Amino acid sequence: MKSWVEISEERLTANYRCLKEAAGADITVLAVVKADAYGHGAELCAPVLAAAGAEWLGVTDAGEGAAVRTALQRAGIASAQQPRILVMSESLDEDADVLVASELTPVVSTISQMEALAHALNDGDSARSFAVHLEIDTGMSRQGVAIGASLDEVLRWLNLQNRIHLEGVMTHFASAEIAGSHQTLQQQRCFEQALHQVQDAGLRPAWIHAGNSSTVDNPFPEDGGTFCWLRNVAKDVSARCMVRSGLALYGYSLPIEVQQGYAGVHEARIRPSLKPVMTWKTRVTGLREIEPGARIGYNGIFMAERRMRLALLPAGYADGLRRDLSATNTSPAGWVMFGKERAPIVGRVSMNLTTVDVTAIPSIKVGDEAILLGEGITADDHACIARTIPYEILCGVKSPRILS
Ligand SMILES: *Cc1c(COP(=O)(O)O)cnc(C)c1O
Repeated sequence: MKSWVEISEERLTANYRCLKEAAGADITVLAVVKADAYGHGAELCAPVLAAAGAEWLGVTDAGEGAAVRTALQRAGIASAQQPRILVMSESLDEDADVLVASELTPVVSTISQMEALAHALNDGDSARSFAVHLEIDTGMSRQGVAIGASLDEVLRWLNLQNRIHLEGVMTHFASAEIAGSHQTLQQQRCFEQALHQVQDAGLRPAWIHAGNSSTVDNPFPEDGGTFCWLRNVAKDVSARCMVRSGLALYGYSLPIEVQQGYAGVHEARIRPSLKPVMTWKTRVTGLREIEPGARIGYNGIFMAERRMRLALLPAGYADGLRRDLSATNTSPAGWVMFGKERAPIVGRVSMNLTTVDVTAIPSIKVGDEAILLGEGITADDHACIARTIPYEILCGVKSPRILS
């Protein structure tokens, strides 16, 4: 194997427990395993999270949900013990059969999505009622139903039939990592109005959920954070509540930013306790010495200024190693780790190959392991160099994964 990803079962479990502890006994933590568990392998991670006690998992679409359901079965977890699986992106009508067959719980926001589900149920057991979670668009303008007339129409439809039942009401925050965010407060007010409409319609959802990893990490508002608010709104409608966490499970979280003019606390609550779950490794396939003046890689953007010893690594941008990590003489960028020692990337990262400078580590031999991402070189480091977020870095890693 040219490069591979080791997934620490122990760290994944510890991060999940850390989130649970931070959320407290009355807030459930839905474990998000969408996008192949942020590049960690949903089929590896879902059984680990189920064993750690996750009551809910979150996926993006019906296909992912079906694969996770199969993985849980293969792991030998009895159907009754399996977590519920929330499908968080809105589905197309043609997904209804898979949603029903794999016992997934879709997030919906339109009557036509629910009609498709009712239709898929009609072919089966007529006594069955299928649970859906309704997303409220509280200000992201992405998914969800708007409060007011549109929401009333959906609620009326739900009240008139008994095949589909409203089990959950949820929303998503646009700026969860910003302490003092006006937008979060506005979204909270809007969600409260939606919950009043739901109550006025006589519907009694069992679950209310909102918020992500940053919602757990961000201490704002100071009277207990967004989950204090969540607890209160859920209590008002006698529902259980939950946050949906992804990134923190895998050991990362966005830095807490501060809204302009906000002077309150903004220290991350859990970030210091999280540990990266992914270690991405490769092995040296070649070593060479080059003379001063020699150029390295495509376009020769790096020129040796002294005698150098280079190690060749069989991983590149096709595997998800960002090309932004390429380095010229005047702008160093990425590096890899050999144990505790850094080896800077020199020249361009190419499709399947990357060259690193090991002049300072004479012990390196062909076959030695190098860490592309993990201890000493994190997804935050890659994200900073590639001017993106750790989410995109983790999701981009393509190498085969093994549980360690
Ligand atoms: C991805 C996602 C989450 C998890 O977000 P993190 O920032 O990774 O914790 C929560 N809710 C919804 C709706 C999502 O799509």
